[in-house]
Amino acid sequence: MKVITVNCLSDNFSYIVINEKNNNACVIDPGEADPIINIVKKNKINIKYILNTHHHEDHVGGNLELKKKFNCNVLGFVDDKNYIPGIDTFLKDKELYKDKDFEFMTYHTPGHTLGHVVFHFHKYNFLFSGDTLFSLGCGRIFEGTHDQMFNSLKIIKKLSKDTMIYFGHEYTKSNLNFCLFNDPNNIQLKNKVKKIYQLIDAGKPTTPTSLIDELQTNIFLKSENLETFKKLRDLKDNF
Ligand code: ZN
Ligand code: FE
Repeated sequence: MKVITVNCLSDNFSYIVINEKNNNACVIDPGEADPIINIVKKNKINIKYILNTHHHEDHVGGNLELKKKFNCNVLGFVDDKNYIPGIDTFLKDKELYKDKDFEFMTYHTPGHTLGHVVFHFHKYNFLFSGDTLFSLGCGRIFEGTHDQMFNSLKIIKKLSKDTMIYFGHEYTKSNLNFCLFNDPNNIQLKNKVKKIYQLIDAGKPTTPTSLIDELQTNIFLKSENLETFKKLRDLKDNF
C-alpha cells in the first residue's frame, strides 16, 4: 500500500492511497480535482473511491469532477449524507469497510464538524485524520463542542503508537510556534524544530507525522483534562 501526498488549494493535503497489486486507488479529501487528475495521468492509477473526512468545501471540492471522470464511488459518514457531494456509500462509526482493494475502520470524531470521521487503515497503521488532528495541533471547533473534540482526540490516542498520521492541512509552522510558546521546556518538541524547518524551507510537506511523536509534542494531545484543553484551544484561536 502506497500513499501519495497531494497539495491542494492553499494549504490542504489530499492523499491517494494505492493498492500496488492492481493500481486501484482511493482519494482522501480531494479539495480540488486538477492536482489529483495530474497524478493519475502520470502514474496510471485507477481511482475507485473517494473518502471524505467531513463536508467542508476544501475537503470535498473535487468530488463531483473526479466522480464524473473516473466513475468512482464516494464514501462518507452517514450523518453527512446530505452535505457530501456525490456520496454513494454511508459509513458508520466503528464500522469495518472491506472489499477486494481496501480495508479500513471509520471512527466518528466530532468537534471540528458534527459528522467528522477519521479513517484508520489498520493493516498498515495509516490514519487519515482530516481536520481533527494536525501535526502539533488540532482542528478548530466549528460545529461541535470542546468536550466532543477532547473525546475525539482520545479515540486517536488509543491507536497503536506507531500509527502514521496523514492530516488535512499544512499548519505545522504555526502549530509549532504555539506549542513552543506554551510548552517551552519540552525537549522532544525542541528536537523537532530543526526537522520541521528543513522540510518547510525545502518546500516539502510536513505530513505524515507519527502518533508517538504527537503524544510527546502536541500540546492538545498532552492535555490531561477538558479544562486545560479548552483553555489551549481558545488561546490558539487567537494566537
Ligand atoms: Zn474543515
Ligand atoms: Fe479543512
